[in-house]
Amino acid sequence: MSLGTSMNIRILLVALIFIFLGGTVKLMGFILFSSKAVLVDGITCVAAFLSGLIVIVTTRAALKPPDVDHHYGHWRIAYGGPLGILIIYSASLGVALASMGFPEPYSVDVRATYSAILGTLLYSIAILIARLDPIGGSTLAVFGWSEVLEGLVSAIAAYAGASYSYIIDYFGGILILGYLLVAILRESRDLIFKISDVAEEGIEERIREELESRKLKIISLRVRMLVPGRYAGDATVVAPCNLSLEAANIIVDEITDFLKRNNIDLTVHIDKDPKCS
Ligand SMILES: [Zn+2]
Repeated sequence: MSLGTSMNIRILLVALIFIFLGGTVKLMGFILFSSKAVLVDGITCVAAFLSGLIVIVTTRAALKPPDVDHHYGHWRIAYGGPLGILIIYSASLGVALASMGFPEPYSVDVRATYSAILGTLLYSIAILIARLDPIGGSTLAVFGWSEVLEGLVSAIAAYAGASYSYIIDYFGGILILGYLLVAILRESRDLIFKISDVAEEGIEERIREELESRKLKIISLRVRMLVPGRYAGDATVVAPCNLSLEAANIIVDEITDFLKRNNIDLTVHIDKDPKCS
């Protein structure tokens, strides 16, 4: 998730339609051909589709300019994306777990493999389409290749499940469920870190350099990440004695304007140096 520039919504929506089709084909692989590996894989596809929609909607809302009730801008609405993903993935995990049931014998039709392959092909097309938008396509997790890997796992599991034993198909489903659980844990940790008011590495140094290059002495400096690529903070500085308060104010304005163009919203307070007379 990076909000530096706007996304091409139309491209991403077309890509999401292909994900939806892929998920539908896979779910049919369960309904018609009884593969539980393909079922779990299909559920994760549908989850990816819903997640993609939520990310697009919240990212759009985040780009709105500041207004009377959001003085720092609406950037953090974008966290509705990862939050939505967590809710959808967790619900999917529950649905998939419930539909797996106990490993009682069942028979897999080999055609489930074709469902998995076709569904995965559709998902691959979705990724390629999404990549036409370098911002959205490469930063939205649902357009990553791990879903394709899951598709290959389900295809192999369904094939072996049809040829040898349902146990292999069942185990394939469990494997994909395990991956889903890992993704949920990873997303949670990532989200908590991002909303933790982290002072991302390098940003403080950038501001420090900017202030010090204009001969301002830094008394305090605090900065935090609003969303990746967007920062807000405050600083207290002391101007050199030979500089009038008026001149110092002009310099500070130049610096904060420059930083604002670089997505850093800094408020600077100028203190009087007690040593100046
Ligand atoms: Zn608002």
